[in-house]
Amino acid sequence: MTKALRMSTMFLRTLREDPADADVVSDKLLQRACYLRKAAPGIWTWLPLGLNVLNKIENIIREEMASIDAQEVHFSGLLPREPYEATHRWEEYGDNIFRLKDRHEADYLLAPTHEEMFTLLVKDLYSSYKDLPVTLYQIQTKYRDEFRPRAGLIRGREFIMKDAYSFTLDKEGLVKAYMDERGAYERIFNRLDLKYVPVHAMAGPMGGFESEEFLAPMEIGEDTFAQSPSGKAWNVEALTTPEPEAIDFSNTPTAEKRPTPNAETIDQMVEFANANHPRSDGRAWEASDILKNVVIAVMHPQDDDHDEPWRELVVVGVPGDRTVDMKRLEAQFTPAEIEEATDEDLKKHPELVKGYIGPMAFGPQARGGEKAENANETGEALRYLIDAHIARGSAWFTGADEAGVDYYDLVYGRDFEADGVVEAVQVRHGDMSPDGSGPLSFERGVEIGQVFQLGLKYSNALGLKVLDQNGKTVPVWMGSYGIGVSRVMACIAETHHDEKGLAWPAIIAPAQVHVVATGKDAAAFEAAEQLIAELEAKGIEVIFDDRKKVSPGVKFKDAELIGVPLVAVAGRDTVNNGTIEVRDRNGENAEAVPVADAAQVIADRVAALLR
Ligand code: ATP
Ligand code: MG
Repeated sequence: MTKALRMSTMFLRTLREDPADADVVSDKLLQRACYLRKAAPGIWTWLPLGLNVLNKIENIIREEMASIDAQEVHFSGLLPREPYEATHRWEEYGDNIFRLKDRHEADYLLAPTHEEMFTLLVKDLYSSYKDLPVTLYQIQTKYRDEFRPRAGLIRGREFIMKDAYSFTLDKEGLVKAYMDERGAYERIFNRLDLKYVPVHAMAGPMGGFESEEFLAPMEIGEDTFAQSPSGKAWNVEALTTPEPEAIDFSNTPTAEKRPTPNAETIDQMVEFANANHPRSDGRAWEASDILKNVVIAVMHPQDDDHDEPWRELVVVGVPGDRTVDMKRLEAQFTPAEIEEATDEDLKKHPELVKGYIGPMAFGPQARGGEKAENANETGEALRYLIDAHIARGSAWFTGADEAGVDYYDLVYGRDFEADGVVEAVQVRHGDMSPDGSGPLSFERGVEIGQVFQLGLKYSNALGLKVLDQNGKTVPVWMGSYGIGVSRVMACIAETHHDEKGLAWPAIIAPAQVHVVATGKDAAAFEAAEQLIAELEAKGIEVIFDDRKKVSPGVKFKDAELIGVPLVAVAGRDTVNNGTIEVRDRNGENAEAVPVADAAQVIADRVAALLR
């Protein structure tokens, strides 16, 4: 027996107009259909219909977690500082976490994610290899002080996450747990009818090895992912450029310094060189001939070797026709953050000559051939890094580190070297795929989940160890696996609607059938009541529009807005012909069914929808 939700008493007021500040369709429709109300930017109040759908999504996740033997626990969202201090994440999260103090001035945070707490929980209770493997998870509220809450539930400041953590004795165990979790994700998203693409990602601030993001492809997504002809996909930050083939420089002339005055920008350099120093091969100089050298400030967090956060300047060489992608570049300095060097930074280094910065004053060539991991500290030459698109043997027109003077034919691998290769520039259509299978293409998506092989970072930082088979103490291998549950709900709304309203997959719709009684004739309402009783007895979830003084037009509009997959109408035809109309939410597959048969017809259609 499942009690019908009656529109006459439900806590619900649908809106005819889109809320003014709603920026995406899911936000507009979820508010208009009264699933949610906004309390403040990125902070949501869940109403009966919203909770109903959310609970169904959560239960599908629970079933799939149970199928891989993950056990559910629940942590507080309010957590002490110390565990996050031990893993440096108290600082690394920067402005993204809500920090607060209790009445005794002790520091707390509102949890953005719970790796630390799960690690400590397992440490608290387990001590032997015999206890492993174990995977624990929770479905719980997370807090992040997002710079720009947007897109309704998609980027909230409070949101619901499923976070799972695996604990295994070794790397093989971790890989198995990761694959199990990944398999569960595929089943979850398939059951929710949500299209997804598993995308290779950077392990990022979590530290660790393999990581994949599950992206739901859609235009409003903030993540761009790249796909290769071989069908693989990468997050733009995780894209690696295959090493370009080395160029034979045996015929490249010796590097030469020439005056190139008042040419500080790429355009000025091209123009001046074409007018004054024509190329020997007759081709015109282009931006792509220029090696542009960009100064970046790397803000390293405090770590085991540094008591305080510290700042390093690095010079990065990129092709002159490409722009630096700060996000992609930053991903390679994780957990450090980067920004463009300031005037103040530049003043401290007279060798950084504005508009004429070239590789010769930095990197190994300025250090007698020595490469460096981070040079600033020792007072040596700044590190020089080179973009991965630049081939060894390529010849460049670039700064000579003196005002008004540039180098021509400066060859990478002959005249200068780099301390390292980085992915520094924006990737573009046609760039080679990491697997060499052909040119990349790009699409946008929303991250709905992520799986991480964390490795030993958290167990080492927090001392989670067990005794192995030989009685030796070993750290535990960990993985972490998130799904943005509330975000998933918005993504389903985003991909399942039409201009009239939501159109939920039956498995998570707030009800399977929306029964509308219309007209003034008591007979129609009586027939509807009879149908409702039968549907309730069959355990079918129903929304029943039993409102007396509401017009049929308004009732149908509400049914379309709320988005239940089947609609049944008791009205004039019921009174005249003894039939109830049963149809899909979009008006298709309509049939007139005798009142006495309606419950069974609906039950069969519901069963077909849920199959
Ligand atoms: P994003 O890059 O979108 O900020 P993230 O990579 O920081 O997400 P994770 O730490 O991987 O997020 O969290 C696990 C999941 O939680 C994400 O895959 C996403 O689905 C969800 N999520 C993260 N931030 C938010 C948010 N502000 N609002 C709603 N869901 C979120
Ligand atoms: Mg993520």
